[in-house]
Amino acid sequence: MLKVLKIGPGQSAVVLTCDQCGKPIADPAAACYTWREHHTADLDDDAELHSLKALVSHPLYVDDGQVFTLHKGSCFTHFQAAHGESAYRWPVSPLVYLPGLLIHNLGMTFPEAEAHLRTLDERG
Ligand SMILES: [Zn+2]
Repeated sequence: MLKVLKIGPGQSAVVLTCDQCGKPIADPAAACYTWREHHTADLDDDAELHSLKALVSHPLYVDDGQVFTLHKGSCFTHFQAAHGESAYRWPVSPLVYLPGLLIHNLGMTFPEAEAHLRTLDERG
């Protein structure tokens, strides 16, 4: 989850936290992001969804689109267990890919993102 946390007197930072334990994610290599998708077999039993299936493809299977950020290992396992477990598909991707994907999907380039970050640093 994206949060603003106090990091010192009068200071705050935008950080990603684990959706299971709530702690900040300090090591992106030890974390992942995931979301829920419906099993396609379940959709085949639902007539309304089945008719929509002909109009759209992959995005139909995404549950509500919420992305969860989690520590790998027990946080991921416990989060899945508490949120539907095998009733859903849980695509998972290493968290290290998320910043680059966001920059790309915001229509920015990496140099633009770096330039904006430097501007922010200069503002203090
Ligand atoms: Zn955690």
